[in-house]
Amino acid sequence: MEEIGEFLSKHGIKILRGGAFKPRTDPKSFQGLGVEGFKILKKIKEKYNFKIVSEIMDPRDIEMAHNYIDIFQIGSRNMYNYSLLKEMGKTNRPILLKRGMSATIEEWIKAAEYIEVAGNNNIILCERGIRSFDDYTRNLLDLMAVPIIKEKTNYPIIVDPSHGTGRRELILPAVKAAMALEADGGVMIEIHSNPEEALSDGGVQSLDFEEFRNLLTKIN
Ligand code: PEP
Ligand code: MN
Repeated sequence: MEEIGEFLSKHGIKILRGGAFKPRTDPKSFQGLGVEGFKILKKIKEKYNFKIVSEIMDPRDIEMAHNYIDIFQIGSRNMYNYSLLKEMGKTNRPILLKRGMSATIEEWIKAAEYIEVAGNNNIILCERGIRSFDDYTRNLLDLMAVPIIKEKTNYPIIVDPSHGTGRRELILPAVKAAMALEADGGVMIEIHSNPEEALSDGGVQSLDFEEFRNLLTKIN
C-alpha cells in the first residue's frame, strides 16, 4: 500500500480505494485484513492526503468505519441488501453504490433511493458490468447505463472498467468510452505494483504501474 500510495500520489490521484472486508465468491479465498486493513489505509491517507474508499459488508462495522474511511462502498453483491442500505442512509458519508451484477437500472436506482429515504442523498453510482451469456469478458460493461442514469437521476455516476471487463487490455478503451459518455465522477481502476502477487483480482485484471502510466498519458 505504501508503494502504491506513493506512486498514485505522484501521479495526482486523489482518491484511493482498497478492500479490507472483501466479499469473495470462494470462502477459502483471501477475505481481507478487516480493521487491520483499515488502519493501513488510514496511514497511507494521512501520509499522501488521499480520500479513502472501502467496502463495508456488515452494518455492525459502519460505526467503526467512520474512524478510517471517507467514502463507504456497497459492493455489487450487497446492492439488494436493504438492511445495509437503510443503515448506510443513517450515515453522513458519501456512499459508492455499485450496480448489482444482475440488477436492472430501475432496481439499482431504487436501491439508491433506499439510502436517500433513510437520510443520506450523498450517493455515487458505479457501473461495474452485468452478467451475460458470454464469458469472454468477466462482466458485460453496460456503458449505456451512464447516459441513462444521468437522464433519470441526479446522482453522479462512475465506471469500473476493472470488474466491468476483467481484462487489462480492455481498461483503456473502456475508460475512453466512459469519458466520451461524460461519466461525471470518472473511473475506478484496479492497479497493483505486482499484479501476479495480488491477493484479489490481480492476474489478468489489475494494471501494473507501467500500464497505469501509459493509460494516464493516453487519456490526457
Ligand atoms: C470491488 O469493487 O472490490 C468488488 C468486489 O467489486 P464488485 O462488488 O463490483 O464485484
Ligand atoms: Mn476487485
